Amino acid sequence: MLLLSGKQVLELYSPADAYQVIADVMRRYSGGGVVQPVRTVLSSDRDASLFASMPCHVSGEVDSGFGLKAVLHVPGNAERGLVSHVGAILVFHPDTGQPLAVIDAAAVTSLRTAAASAVATDALARADAGDLALLGAGVQARSHLVAMNRIRTLRRVRVWNRTPAHAEQFRAWARSLVEVDVELMPTPAAALRGADVVCTTLGSSDPVVSAADIAPGCHVNAVGASVPSKRELDSEAVASCSVFVDSREAAMRESSEITMPLAERLIPGDWYFPEIGEVLLGRHPGRTDRDERTLYKSLGMAAQDVASGFAIVRAAQRLGVGTVTDIFS
Ligand code: NDP
Repeated sequence: MLLLSGKQVLELYSPADAYQVIADVMRRYSGGGVVQPVRTVLSSDRDASLFASMPCHVSGEVDSGFGLKAVLHVPGNAERGLVSHVGAILVFHPDTGQPLAVIDAAAVTSLRTAAASAVATDALARADAGDLALLGAGVQARSHLVAMNRIRTLRRVRVWNRTPAHAEQFRAWARSLVEVDVELMPTPAAALRGADVVCTTLGSSDPVVSAADIAPGCHVNAVGASVPSKRELDSEAVASCSVFVDSREAAMRESSEITMPLAERLIPGDWYFPEIGEVLLGRHPGRTDRDERTLYKSLGMAAQDVASGFAIVRAAQRLGVGTVTDIFS
């Protein structure tokens, strides 16, 4: 069995690799090739941390088998100088069931989530979209800037973040490591004005985006609210868009951004929320009008982690990377 650190994950699995793996597994998911329950999320009375258990089985020619992500979201880690998502991905040999690897989950989560947004943006945004607004300046904001910069020619990048000092750090990082100049904005509305691609990556509980903030023709990746207690977009904002999801089953259970506009009857109760995999499979047309607002509601899926895990193990075996341990007989 291999042990693979976050640093090794970044060496083995590029944003381009992640894009291909995630596009493929989203097709497999919507095509019936993935067995995946809605994740189990536990809290405790100790602090605001959440523990998620995310198992699945992925079928296919390559990168198939059982796997599991066990991950904690620890909001207090930011003050400790640690990443807020910590945990491990475990993937098993498809024939023998032997554990193949334990992989740092933080690095994979950051790459696969941004790759999923890139796949959705490629499928749903206007071909000439290049005015990017980012809400947030944390791990996901960084991976999303890299992913968006890879798939579109960015004419302008604006960022809003609650803590201006973190936004400044983000700007310095973007300039030195992504070679992108970022404008810092005083409000979410100012960041979104006229933008044609938006990525929201906030850990906020209350919405900060309303319908009037979203320009005609814009594509929004709503990433930050991945548990029912959180929303980044208010109900009118969601209802103003054509909404696409990663998993319909999860969206109906885990996303208040979906269930609240339904409960408030801003979206009809029998509305069909297409999965991005259905668009990729050609079963749904995606955007049909240049002025249509499209929204990809990202919750994140075990299949994205597990398919990434198998791809990383393949690369590690090919290149001889990782620490080999022999605890299983
Ligand atoms: P980080 O801790 O690195 O960044 C958190 C960001 O959210 C910071 O910009 C922070 O601002 C901001 N923020 C936190 N609380 C609030 C608040 N109450 N109001 C406004 N802004 C706030 O986390 P990540 O980048 O790793 O994750 C960001 C979000 O994305 C989380 O909510 C996480 O659960 C979610 N996520 C979703 C995934 C998916 O698949 N959809 C996968 C992984 C994460 P500040 O600098 O001011 O603290």
